Order: sequence, then structure tokens, then C-alpha cells
Amino acid sequence: MDRYAIVGHPVAHSKSPDIHARFAELTGQTLVYERLELPLGGFLSGIQAARAAGLRGGNVTVPFKLDAYQWVQHHSARARLAEACNTFWFEADGVHGDNTDGIGLVRDITQNAGVPLRGARVLLVGAGGAGAGALGPLLSERPAELVLTNRTVARAQALAQRHAHWATQHGVALSTAGLHDVSGSFDVVVNATASSLNGAEPPLPASALRGGTLVVDMMYGPKAEPFALWAAAHGATVRDGLGMLIEQAAEAFFLWRGVMPPAAQVMAERRAAMG
Ligand code: NAP
Repeated sequence: MDRYAIVGHPVAHSKSPDIHARFAELTGQTLVYERLELPLGGFLSGIQAARAAGLRGGNVTVPFKLDAYQWVQHHSARARLAEACNTFWFEADGVHGDNTDGIGLVRDITQNAGVPLRGARVLLVGAGGAGAGALGPLLSERPAELVLTNRTVARAQALAQRHAHWATQHGVALSTAGLHDVSGSFDVVVNATASSLNGAEPPLPASALRGGTLVVDMMYGPKAEPFALWAAAHGATVRDGLGMLIEQAAEAFFLWRGVMPPAAQVMAERRAAMG
């Protein structure tokens, strides 16, 4: 049977095996999708051993997305922009890699939430791995303006600089700001920070939100709730990161199998199971 895996450290918490098992069931694909936890510093030897043992491809999560990018031989355009890979697979000509996080986010906003990005004023909060994966696909949707903010402003500036040409090509006014220097309100706000993990204060000023703002927090689960409540109290419509997670998985599944799984159905099932 074709074998795929989520590769990371840790991976015990990952929902990807359940999501891909359901995708396989619904599309009639025969495959297994496992967890592969590799030791810190052990990505290359671990992934090579897994390949020799018959792995066909997989996803990569924290902290190995950069290692994966350096190991992959054939990068997609969106992986090159992000300088990170969350999806890989093997072909006769070598290792292929992509980054499906951003397209997963975009689909959750435009298709699942039904909110257009074209012409919108967008705030992306966070310039870590997740922010880097999101920026290129967000710009591709041609918002009128995208402000990138991050606790460490230099990191946001470096990421924006890497995307400057892409932004120009898509007619987007791309700028950076410190967390407390963000001005005006936005149509769409994406929280790509890990601030909720530590129970920190919301990583943006309340003035960024107004009635009708769509806030997407890439996090999901109990730790994401205080931020969601805060954003809702300021008039925003809030989505957690479950939709993005399932959509990025669907794109990876499509890259491996050539079949697009019914992401919306799987999302509805998982939300029902979560109550
Ligand atoms: P990362 O590379 O470690 O980056 C962390 C980001 O959070 C950086 O921008 C960091 O700012 C910021 N940050 C951390 N603590 C903060 C605080 N107290 N206040 C303000 N900013 C803070 O992590 P990542 O891979 O980007 O992941 C970020 C989040 O996205 C995680 O919660 C992850 O679970 C989630 N995620 C979800 C999906 C999905 O499919 N739903 C996919 C990918 C990631 P500095 O640069 O200043 O340190």
C-alpha cells in the first residue's frame, strides 16, 4: 500500500493522519498515512531512511519545514517564495516539494467563508513560517493593500522585501508596520502568530477590527478561544485554523494522488465531532 506521513517533532497531536485517512476513504484511494517523529537535527537521515523503506511522500511540520526546503530538489513557485516546504513526494527525477499552507488559507477565506480578497485591505500578523507560507498566495489574490506586521519588525521587513516583486506583479501595495503602528481597520485580518500558545495579549491593536472584518486565526482548539472572543467582542467575524488545515491537506492530497478530496465535507464532519 502507498505510504505517506506527517514528519515533525512532535507529531503525536497531528490531525493529518485522520484527515488523510478520511480523504482516502471518500475518494476510494488506497493508501496509509502515518506519523513520523524525527529527532531534532535528524531530519535528513530520518527522511532518507523512510524513503528507502518505501515512503511515497508526506507533509512536514514544525520544526522541519526549512530542512525540507533545503532537501527538496524541485520546488514549486509558492515553496520558493515561502522558502519552506510542507509537502513532498518522490518522482523519477527526484524529490518534489510544495507549500500548500497559503493556498489552504486562501481557499478557506474565499471559498469557505465566501469573503473576497480581491481589492480588500488585508492585515497579515506574523512573519514566522506560517506567515511566510501565507504571504505569496494572499498577494496572488490581488488585494488592494496588504500590511504585514510582526513582533520582530525586521523579520516582517525581510519577508516583505522577498515578496516585493510578487506584490508589484499582482498590483498590491505591500507594506510593513510594527505591531502597535498598524493604522486603520481591515477587511481581512490573518493571525499567523503563535501568541495564543503562551496565552499572550492579542498581537494587534483593536483598531484594526470593525464590524464586518473577517479574522482568521491559524490556531484552533481551546488555546485559540481567548483571541477569538477578543476579536468577536470588537465586531469581527472569526474563523479558526481548522479550515486552513483541512484545505492545505486537500491540496497536498491532490498533488500526490491527482484527485481533489471533498474538503468541505470533511470540515463539516470534524466540526460536528468537535460539537
Ligand atoms: P514560528 O515560525 O515559530 O513563528 C511564530 C510567529 O509568532 C512569529 O511571527 C513570532 O514573532 C510570533 N509570536 C510568537 N509569540 C508572540 C507573541 N507573544 N506576540 C506576538 N507575536 C508572537 O511558528 P509558525 O510555524 O509561523 O506558526 C504560527 C502559528 O500558526 C502556530 O500557532 C501554528 O500552529 C499555526 N499554523 C497553523 C496552520 C494551519 O493549517 N491551521 C498551519 C501552519 C501554522 P517573532 O518573529 O517576533 O518571534
